[in-house]
Amino acid sequence: MIVVLSGGTGTPKLLRGLKELTEFAVIVNTAEDVWISGNKVCPDIDSVLYTLAGMIDEEKWWGIKGDSFRTHEMLLKLGCDEFMAIGDLDRAVHIFRSELLRKGLTLTEATKMLRKALGVEQEVLPMCDEDVETRVVTNEGDMHFQEFWVKRKGEPEVVDVYFKGIERAKATKDVLRVLESCDFVLIGPSNPITSIMPIISVRGIKDLLIDKTVVAVSPIVGEEAVSGPAGKFMRAKGFKASPLGVADVYKDFLDILVIDDVDRRLVGEYDGVKVVATNTIMKTAEDSRELAEFILSLV
Ligand code: GDP
Repeated sequence: MIVVLSGGTGTPKLLRGLKELTEFAVIVNTAEDVWISGNKVCPDIDSVLYTLAGMIDEEKWWGIKGDSFRTHEMLLKLGCDEFMAIGDLDRAVHIFRSELLRKGLTLTEATKMLRKALGVEQEVLPMCDEDVETRVVTNEGDMHFQEFWVKRKGEPEVVDVYFKGIERAKATKDVLRVLESCDFVLIGPSNPITSIMPIISVRGIKDLLIDKTVVAVSPIVGEEAVSGPAGKFMRAKGFKASPLGVADVYKDFLDILVIDDVDRRLVGEYDGVKVVATNTIMKTAEDSRELAEFILSLV
């Protein structure tokens, strides 16, 4: 069994291929979670669930395909400042999750109920049950990640990123169990700073990664992220926005880094990490499957 560490866009694309080939459990970033219009939205958990349930909107890689936005439109009409466009079916998931949380279930328990209801076989585990919040320090103030990325469209200059509440976060018993028993750990092509760093900063997780074979796929191709603000955040944290910069973020535990063919000149050995190349751009389900097959052939 493989354990995959995931954010909400790049890694779900890879899970689309991996689910055809092998068994795995997913540990998901929750530091981008946010309460919106009374409900708890877990963007990365939802994208992983929808992908594994075959429901994800593959144009945007968030939300449910074919969803409508009537409630969102009505809320805007009423004057509600709902800055994330939440689909009607997507909102049903958020409402049910929030009900479960208000009844006293943990996020791990609520996610288990949701994934079973959606027919997802793989374990989908929040990185922790405590609240952790990615905050972006910008030239225009300190803001929640979603305010920076969705409301402000990623425009402010990034000075720093930190994870509020991370010192209280500890690995759940489910996270420890899958990490202890897995054959290897796969870090998908997710944002190293805002999707993966929160996961590895949860107490108990990094220590287990050091003892495992860890393979990561670079979300940086050439000198920029395939999509999203990963390059900006890596530079703000003092890393180079390049595939080897990704290896630097993971250097304490990384064994193999998969980079894209366009960066093939970097193949070889880098600071104790084996660097290999293939096509990592996943436009189609076939691309996802081929990348997943390549990764499985490595270990
Ligand atoms: P978020 O939670 O929505 O930020 O999602 P992730 O962190 O999982 O995914 C964002 C990262 O995925 C970005 O850094 C992108 O560069 C990367 N990404 C998206 N699509 C692809 C792809 O097809 N291939 C690769 N290699 N990276 C991708």
